[in-house]
Amino acid sequence: MWLSVKELELRRVPFDETFEPGAIDFSGENLDQVTPLRATGSAEMLAHSGGEIRVKGQYTVEIGSQCDRCLGRASFPLTASFDLYYRPMAEIAREEEVEIDEGEAEIGFYEGGGMQLEDILREQVLLALPMQRVCAETCKGICPVCGRNRNEGECGCSVSAVDDRWGALRNLTN
Ligand SMILES: [Zn+2]
Ligand SMILES: [Zn+2]
Repeated sequence: MWLSVKELELRRVPFDETFEPGAIDFSGENLDQVTPLRATGSAEMLAHSGGEIRVKGQYTVEIGSQCDRCLGRASFPLTASFDLYYRPMAEIAREEEVEIDEGEAEIGFYEGGGMQLEDILREQVLLALPMQRVCAETCKGICPVCGRNRNEGECGCSVSAVDDRWGALRNLTN
């Protein structure tokens, strides 16, 4: 869905969109979209802001990826809201003195006649996913000795070969 600046200059634009898997490209991130992505909200141009656009709403989707530990399937049901501000890129060129401080980290920029809602949602989904993508917090991962998925059973390999992360976790809880 194209959020047109021309239209936003005239009115607030509500959206209630469903994006089937494939409509938003997650393939480059080794992710796949498991369910349709539903997004509702609105976009509006703020008065006397020099073209600043606020995009506010929420979305629901389930994203799948490979588990970082066992290489099996990991899935992430996401439900999140967003409240974002975008300034026209041209504004920056005009005001070269603009300082972007920490408090403005939430502000993005747009170029040309508007923004693609799909791009905004894609970015939000990537931000919402955890850094470590695991199928379950308790995932035991793959045995570094024999390569067996430890979630499927003990392989009986030497304990000394066990990934050190578990030792580190035990130390934290002690
Ligand atoms: Zn796993
Ligand atoms: Zn093993």
